[in-house]
Amino acid sequence: MPIRLTHASRKILIISILTGILTGIVAGGLQFSIAQHHREIQLDRLFSDIKANVEHYFSDLHTTSDLLQPLALSPCEKVSSELTSRAAFSVNVRAFLLVRNHNAFCSSATGAMDVPLTDLIPGIDVSKKLDMVILPGTPMMPDTPAIGIWYQSPLRDEHGVFVSVNVNLAPSLINASLRDNYQGVALATGDNAISTFSARLISPGDVSAQSVRHAAIDSLPLTLWLYAERWTPQDIQLALLPALMAGLLAGLLCALLLHRRLRPGREILQAIKNDQFYVVYQPVVDAGTLRVSGAEVLLRWKHPTKGEISPNTFIPLAEAQKLMVPLTQHLFRLIARDAAALQSVLPVGGKLGINIATGHLHAASFIEDLDRLNAALPVQHFSIVLEITERHMLKHGEAAALFKALHQKGYEIAIDDFGTGHSALIYLERFTLDYLKIDRAFVSVIDMETAASPVLDTVLLLAKRLNMQTVAEGVETADQARWLRARGVNFLQGYWFCRPMTLSQLQNWQPPPFSVQLQG
Ligand code: C2E
Ligand code: CA
Ligand code: CA
Repeated sequence: MPIRLTHASRKILIISILTGILTGIVAGGLQFSIAQHHREIQLDRLFSDIKANVEHYFSDLHTTSDLLQPLALSPCEKVSSELTSRAAFSVNVRAFLLVRNHNAFCSSATGAMDVPLTDLIPGIDVSKKLDMVILPGTPMMPDTPAIGIWYQSPLRDEHGVFVSVNVNLAPSLINASLRDNYQGVALATGDNAISTFSARLISPGDVSAQSVRHAAIDSLPLTLWLYAERWTPQDIQLALLPALMAGLLAGLLCALLLHRRLRPGREILQAIKNDQFYVVYQPVVDAGTLRVSGAEVLLRWKHPTKGEISPNTFIPLAEAQKLMVPLTQHLFRLIARDAAALQSVLPVGGKLGINIATGHLHAASFIEDLDRLNAALPVQHFSIVLEITERHMLKHGEAAALFKALHQKGYEIAIDDFGTGHSALIYLERFTLDYLKIDRAFVSVIDMETAASPVLDTVLLLAKRLNMQTVAEGVETADQARWLRARGVNFLQGYWFCRPMTLSQLQNWQPPPFSVQLQG
């Protein structure tokens, strides 16, 4: 039993830890996925904001370029000032180039020129209505990448406007509230990109940061890339807190609930509540008259699943769990319940031997509990004998006063299992006791051949000297009974006379003629 219960505590511990861990994981995971969900929404907003800004910018630029298209028909000196002022007032424009017959002939930055546009900007496709390149630099700013855009004239395919723009990818593009954990953006055409990561051209896939969104910019051969952290250490920290709290709480709650269900001792208290304990009575016979003079009350536990559990198992368990007081109080209630019926089976003056654990004896409520039992018994019918073992030492000072008080109230005291412990002799020396119950170990070794049992002889002599009555336990044969009677033992108890019986068995029991059986 104790092993099983240790096992129960271990089980409680393991289940609680597992529940805690599992709940922690679920709570943490939930918090994390909620944070993730928010983050995805945030990234969507951030990306669409940036994309809208970029689209807005290029659409403005398109409008400006459209206004410049007619200038491509005029000589440079006539239009250069307008060109320059347009460039000055267009945000981020580095230069406008006017193109006639595929030749760049006028620049807002440098004035008149005459160079085929494709020589100036290799890679640009002038046959298209609109083309875009990313340039590592422009003649005026050779180290700063720029985006070049070719707008073909709507009237003449070989005319048009070319614009180079600084693409300002500075965070001003981005709404401040959305900038958390944002790492950067890139704009790419083909394999080339300019980004917030480097002053040089890059390839969008080469960025060490993680790209979380990318999409084509409306009506331009341009792709916008957004780089950000999908999750951050903060998200983990934020998830850890509820995980820890929920895990701890669930673990503790689980431990508490299981402990209440499975904790050691719970079973005994539960069994008391569910009326699983019952008593049996073993008659004690007067050795002289061979008539029943009383009975020892023995507790039994009928467990709903484990069946009968021996008192040799549950009494030590109850003692270890400090449950002897409630258990004995329950025993008293069970005896009180039987008392009226017992009256008809036990003679007037019948002795009720009740086993008392030392722990209860020293409990403050003991005399009170005993008086309550006594009050529930039929008046003047029974006399209570408290059977005390020598297994646990009595506290000397307290016991002497207690025994005196018990004697004054008419209760008698028996020393049980005499001879099996090592303190009984001291008890005999110190306390006034009424009965000495000789343990069945001494009875079973009575040698019928030699009819000698020197230790038992000495014990009986001792009892006589101390003015104590003797009870022999575990009398299993007629020979033993004869031997004990011959030695002057006062009372006999054992299977030969009768096994412990329930109240109804006792009520139906007809004592056989022991005196006849012992003759011969
Ligand atoms: P115990 O006080 O020595 O009780 C006598 C035990 O001997 C009983 O065992 C009884 O059934 C058994 N017995 C009686 N006659 C014979 C016999 O001829 N031969 C053999 N071999 N055994 C016999 P049980 O009922 O199993 O009780 C065992 C022990 O559990 C008791 O020993 C007692 O120490 C304890 N116990 C039982 N009921 C209570 C109780 O209500 N309170 C306390 N504190 N202890 C109890
Ligand atoms: Ca006993
Ligand atoms: Ca005994």
